[in-house]
Amino acid sequence: TKRIGILTSGGDAQGMNAAVRSIVRYSIQRGLEPFLIYDGYSGLVQGGSKIVQAKWSDVSGFLTHGGTLIGTARCLEFREKEGRRIGAKTLIKNGISSLVVIGGDGSLTGADVLRAEWPEHIDALLESGEITAQEARENRHLMIAGMVGSIDNDLASTDVTIGANSALTRICESVDALQTTAASHHRAFVVEVMGRHCGWLALSAAICTGADYLFIPEDPPKSGEWEDKLCEALKNSRDRGKKTSLVIVAEGATDSELNSIKADRIKEILSERLKYDTRVTILGHVQRGGSPTFIDRYLGTVQGAEAVEAIIRATPHTPSQVIGLLENRITTQPLQQAIELTRSVAERINTKDFKGALNLRSSSFAS
Ligand code: ATP
Repeated sequence: TKRIGILTSGGDAQGMNAAVRSIVRYSIQRGLEPFLIYDGYSGLVQGGSKIVQAKWSDVSGFLTHGGTLIGTARCLEFREKEGRRIGAKTLIKNGISSLVVIGGDGSLTGADVLRAEWPEHIDALLESGEITAQEARENRHLMIAGMVGSIDNDLASTDVTIGANSALTRICESVDALQTTAASHHRAFVVEVMGRHCGWLALSAAICTGADYLFIPEDPPKSGEWEDKLCEALKNSRDRGKKTSLVIVAEGATDSELNSIKADRIKEILSERLKYDTRVTILGHVQRGGSPTFIDRYLGTVQGAEAVEAIIRATPHTPSQVIGLLENRITTQPLQQAIELTRSVAERINTKDFKGALNLRSSSFAS
């Protein structure tokens, strides 16, 4: 029987549990044996009780839970080759040579690195006597399927990542709640949302809450000029009768000289120049909290089934795969390609001459 290891890694995202449940149950139905690996790559390095065979009933109730019930971690050892060698040994000792990893681009890169090194680890473990010749033979090839769990929606090759819809829903609910008090007091609110490199959450939130101004990493405003433009836009909208002002800023927003644009700085400008009663709200981990929306439950479930199918289809020559959603269809693509595309976009964004990958203008949000 083929054994499948399942782990969640990196930042938690709503819908990861739906994915774990789906992989466990679908793989049982397809005649495979699923194993839960607790606490991401740390569990792989630690082995022992962190690896547990999963029965159908072990994942009951998972569908509606946010976060990840099998735990996640940022594991420094796994970034080193020696850590990955120990991880390989854990898998081989448990007879697991297929792995579904649910995480962001770092986690998926880690899985792909492990796969690339796999033959080397097998040889080294065999030579040192840590595994037997039979274990080496039976686990000669490692199959990887990645699922993108990330609230940031920051991986190329999928229209939406698992968790992004729930986080956006949470942001909209929170901003709606702020608007009530903002309107009562004629206040301005500056809301910081997650997104160090990717402004998808901030951009979508600005559209969905009718924000007056937006700062995202992909569209850095001109250094020394944005302050005036911000004030002008907010003043115009008050002149037209609006009683409140709302500015959304992604945590990784910068100006064209790569100076951070922080919520407190925006507050200072609005308070000093426009004399607005301005408050800052940093939504923080609330964005990851609560139960997943139907979209993330659905994505986790159908993509989980596809991940198992991708493992079943894989031959020793199939590269690591990543499951996505493009134009409403579930897709399976080479993982490395998706990561390279993501990196090349991210590198462009982090340069001074970047002109705006999405061709957006923050000021166009002024209502
Ligand atoms: P998030 O979107 O929340 O940042 P992520 O998966 O990108 O999620 P990371 O912290 O980058 O989060 O990665 C999670 C773990 O994956 C790391 O702690 C490390 O164990 C492993 N990992 C990341 N990058 C690599 C790499 N290049 N090589 C090996 N392992 C890696």
